Amino acid sequence: MQLTNRRKVVSDKHQTLSERIYFPAVVKGMLITFSHLFKKRPTIMYPEEQREIAPVYRGRHVLKRDENGAERCTACGMCAVACPAEAITMESAERKRGEEGLYREEKYASTYEINMLRCIFCGLCEEACPKEAIFLTDRLVESEYERETFVYGKDKLVEKIDQRIDVTKRQTPEVIEFKKRPGLKHNSLFDKTQIDRHRKPH
Ligand code: SF4
Ligand code: SF4
Repeated sequence: MQLTNRRKVVSDKHQTLSERIYFPAVVKGMLITFSHLFKKRPTIMYPEEQREIAPVYRGRHVLKRDENGAERCTACGMCAVACPAEAITMESAERKRGEEGLYREEKYASTYEINMLRCIFCGLCEEACPKEAIFLTDRLVESEYERETFVYGKDKLVEKIDQRIDVTKRQTPEVIEFKKRPGLKHNSLFDKTQIDRHRKPH
């Protein structure tokens, strides 16, 4: 009586002479190996040679400055909350008088760190940021020997004042259109005359 329908008939076919002496199979294998000598090599000799990347590639982060060079980040923590890898930590501080050119808002990040070993480059921090302060760039995280050096602080994250990083290709037309709305205070240019006006004694 048949108990299951999973029974398989195993082949009992006898090997041919050429299969038994193995030689044809060895020659066939050698021909395949030999044919690869004339094919295009798929190996990329990084870092001398670099692979082309997508225009919206998500690489290492940048903390942007505004048009006047002031840091945009206001240490609101939205990026850290959005981060699924818990890679972002920061401490906030209050902007002092005379620091308006350094920090755009009254509060700023005195320390800001991203652990690049934890980061999965999902881009959620960029999406969560209400100040357009953090963006992912097309730059790669450099290889290091020590784990601690993968924790990037402000020295590595904030863009250099004379080496601005173009992030416009990471912004969709809808976002660019949204930023033009006049009610968005944080998009306006840093206007020093307004601050001077506030400082005047009444
Ligand atoms: S890219 Fe994703 S994982 Fe990396 S810091 Fe931003 S939110 Fe976290
Ligand atoms: S980068 Fe953006 S979301 Fe993160 S703390 Fe700064 S302002 Fe807030």
